[in-house]
Amino acid sequence: MQEEILKLIELQRIDLEILKIEKAMNDIPQSLQKAQKDKDQIQKKLEELSSLLEEKKKQKDLFEEELKQEYQRLKSTQARLIQIRGTREYQLLLREIEEIKKANKQKEDEILKLMEEIENLEQEKTKLLEELNKIEAIFNEEKQKFEAFCAELSNNKAELLKKRENIAQEIPSNLLKKYEILKQKKGGVGIAPVDNYVCEGCHMAIPPQLYNEIQKDNRYYECPHCKRLIFYKKIYISEEEPKEEAISEEKAISEEKASAA
Ligand SMILES: [Zn+2]
Repeated sequence: MQEEILKLIELQRIDLEILKIEKAMNDIPQSLQKAQKDKDQIQKKLEELSSLLEEKKKQKDLFEEELKQEYQRLKSTQARLIQIRGTREYQLLLREIEEIKKANKQKEDEILKLMEEIENLEQEKTKLLEELNKIEAIFNEEKQKFEAFCAELSNNKAELLKKRENIAQEIPSNLLKKYEILKQKKGGVGIAPVDNYVCEGCHMAIPPQLYNEIQKDNRYYECPHCKRLIFYKKIYISEEEPKEEAISEEKAISEEKASAA
């Protein structure tokens, strides 16, 4: 067994764990994504509603200002009526007064309609604000959960990086460099075991001669297909640990025994 290959295998294991952590940190949970989407949607609706509301209010203010001026005009026109002597002029003025009154009535109706619209919009806005509050609470909760999860991952990553640094120091620099370059080019895997003629990095069979040679384990080997560093699995990786099911089965049996006794 070559000590530096053993170290490299450990380094690879750590690097894969780090990669997994990084992926998990970038993988925003569905629940948070949904809350974000809902929040954005309501906020957009609210903005649209608010600008419409603003527009209606402005229109109402404008109409009210115009109406005020028209009332003023009506008053001064009515005042002129008293001073007039000629019948024709009197008639003309009367007609003018009627027209002003008619126009004012129309404007008043429009203002009333606007007031109703504004009231409805305000109600809608209140409802949307309530919805927004609810979804914001959900969003914040989901965000906090994910942030806590990420903080934990981040701690784990820091620990792994420390371990990694220590192990990397013990690996000859030319070998380490080769591994790093391969790792970067080959999706995070720079060194792979060979088992039963197959490179587990690229899942292709290696030539029999190389397979025989790799079992001698007296130099560094590389896969002819993927170029990754390879090693003979049976030398470096011990048989897999007993499976969890087996353990729990054993436990179940012993529990059964205990209850029978
Ligand atoms: Zn390969």
